[in-house]
Amino acid sequence: MNHHPLFTNRVAVLATMHHKEKVIAPILEQELGIKVVVPKYFNTDRFGTFTREIKRVGTQIEAARLKAETVLTMTGETLAIASEGTFGPHPGSPFIPCNREVVILLDKTNGLEIIGQEISTETNFNHRIVNSLEEAQDFADTIGFPEHALVVSLSSSPRSQDEIIKGIKTREQLVEAVQFGLNSSKDGKVYIETDMRALYNPTRMKNIAASTHDLVRKLNHACPNCSCPGFELVQRIKGLPCAYCHAPTQLTIAAVYKCQKCGFSKEKLFPDGLEKADPAQCLYCNP
Ligand SMILES: [Zn+2]
Ligand SMILES: [Zn+2]
Repeated sequence: MNHHPLFTNRVAVLATMHHKEKVIAPILEQELGIKVVVPKYFNTDRFGTFTREIKRVGTQIEAARLKAETVLTMTGETLAIASEGTFGPHPGSPFIPCNREVVILLDKTNGLEIIGQEISTETNFNHRIVNSLEEAQDFADTIGFPEHALVVSLSSSPRSQDEIIKGIKTREQLVEAVQFGLNSSKDGKVYIETDMRALYNPTRMKNIAASTHDLVRKLNHACPNCSCPGFELVQRIKGLPCAYCHAPTQLTIAAVYKCQKCGFSKEKLFPDGLEKADPAQCLYCNP
């Protein structure tokens, strides 16, 4: 087990009710030497749900921070972890679904806020409007059911107040929910979607684990001036020269790291390990 001088033997409260401790706790306990505990009766649904009943508070990072702050107030502890996931089209290619996970660490003793992140196209995030049990079963087969659970809404265009059945994990539950939905839906259709809550979605759990590893990497990157953890990348500078004509390209030539505590910043040349750009990336050689 590794021990981090600022965190060894401290207790971190993890704001979750969806079993995220299964992936987050072993990583942080192993890498930092902290003890992760999950408070009883901490309802994270009030900060927003994927199934539209409760709208998320603020941005993704604001929502994660608010969970961490709330769990600190509730328990009187000084170290908190919270995570928040979003799903949507990939920023670069709108037809590919994408999952962004953030894991935040708030340390009141040392005045630290560090955020790990993972952006992944590994997700089963999807939905379909179906009007038969066969269509529902076809959809289930494409999203990794029953290891991944499903949600059925009793309407083809679900709104916040519509009745929904979540956490569907067996064929029997699926048949029952879809039949019930088809019978009670006004237009004879139901909206079926993937359940994105962590405990019902092992693919999402993997992305939460990856963002926790990113958090650890950031924690282990200390400021060369004051040795505070979380010496973070704040800017990438474009202009890596083309290997053939030496003109600047869109690729990164330098990265700027900055300390949130003392403000010290440092530029690192060639952060991606490349000193020249492939001419295929050059506007002049390969217009
Ligand atoms: Zn510093
Ligand atoms: Zn060139």
